[in-house]
Amino acid sequence: MHPLLKPIHGAAGRTADWRTIKPVIEYEKCTKCNLCWLNCPDSCFSFDEEQYPVIDYTYCKGCMICMEVCPHDAILEVPETHEEI
Ligand code: SF4
Ligand code: SF4
Repeated sequence: MHPLLKPIHGAAGRTADWRTIKPVIEYEKCTKCNLCWLNCPDSCFSFDEEQYPVIDYTYCKGCMICMEVCPHDAILEVPETHEEI
């Protein structure tokens, strides 16, 4: 499964500074379907050594499209604290 047009990583610039909510993956629910990766408009997803998706919070703008498309409710919406930035 490959996107027809892959956006440049962080094309909208560093967006984490103004994010008010953020997605958090519940890995016990994740089936590695890659739909979050495919639909993220900022190309924030990479994969760990077990092929689970990992979010780059430097560029995630908190649009929550990934949560909307996840078929297993494996992505939660949580308030942003900016503690990890
Ligand atoms: S919230 Fe939006 S920008 Fe952030 S990882 Fe999900 S789809 Fe990408
Ligand atoms: S869309 Fe949901 S189930 Fe699929 S890879 Fe992403 S987090 Fe995992």
